[in-house]
Amino acid sequence: MANVQVAVVIPVYNEEKNLPALMQRLMPVMLGLGKSFEIIFIDDGSHDQSLQILKEFTKNSQVRIVELTKNYGQHAAIMAGFSITRADIVITMDADLQNPPEEITNLVKVMEEGNYDVVGTIRKGRKDSFFRILPSKIINMVARKITGVTMRDWGCMLRCYRLPVVQRMIQCHEHATFIPALATVFAKRVTEIEVAHEERHGGKSNYPLRKLINLQFDLVASFSDLPMRLIMYGGVLMSLLGICFGTFLAIARLAYGARWAAEGIFTLFAVLFVFVGLQFFALGVIGEYIGRIYREVRKRPEYVIEKIHTR
Ligand code: UDP
Ligand code: MG
Repeated sequence: MANVQVAVVIPVYNEEKNLPALMQRLMPVMLGLGKSFEIIFIDDGSHDQSLQILKEFTKNSQVRIVELTKNYGQHAAIMAGFSITRADIVITMDADLQNPPEEITNLVKVMEEGNYDVVGTIRKGRKDSFFRILPSKIINMVARKITGVTMRDWGCMLRCYRLPVVQRMIQCHEHATFIPALATVFAKRVTEIEVAHEERHGGKSNYPLRKLINLQFDLVASFSDLPMRLIMYGGVLMSLLGICFGTFLAIARLAYGARWAAEGIFTLFAVLFVFVGLQFFALGVIGEYIGRIYREVRKRPEYVIEKIHTR
């Protein structure tokens, strides 16, 4: 296929109820852009009729399908889609119509006018249950703090990326990836716009709390060493408190006599705190090494050159 201008990459996992409606709304939007385009669906090992429905779509030459052997997860599926496109602008979105396809027009417009590398999105009026929103809120906050990337909404997958950013991402052979975060490593000009958010069209969310926690751990672990730092700091703090407590006991013992310190039991606690603290500290140090090993095996590029300027 010749290079097209815009590609839409959509991971699909058991979305038979949503695919026809999705296609019906997406097609007019893409045609309305007035650019050459392709739509890439990735069947992430669905075990309903999704793949059959998708195959029907290929009657339309603008549609391509990537069939994966099993369920690899949303982000891996998107990566698979990324790997086959050469479009200048690559858009990712969900198949469940929670991201209105109509927003694509604006997304592309913002990207072109501002010459951005990445345009992210913020869901306004999110239509999810409270128990789905609360974890996301916490995730967004933690992600911002920990990774130091100031993105307001991490979870919304309706985003668009320039081809160089996409290609840099697929060169990272990471198993635990979180695409919106990874993109920020490789993009220079990033912005976010507000998009509408709708109820899931049909079926139910593929993210029960367990998967959500898993995904969150992917994000935190692959972008920060904070969790093990906390262990280390906690250990140091505990040791210091133990030492303070010991000192206090020693002084009190001298001033008030042995009875006051319950005949040495408190002293035992003080000593215990110091040693438990040291143990945590040692655990943190080991973690620090593991973190470094993890960073090395991830093989993320040490730097990314945006452009070389000469006269
Ligand atoms: N998805 C996928 N593989 C998975 C889980 C989800 O390809 O293992 C796709 C799913 O078909 C949908 C998108 O990822 O297009 C988002 O999933 P979902 O709507 O379940 O997540 P939520 O909106 O609850 O975050
Ligand atoms: Mg959804």
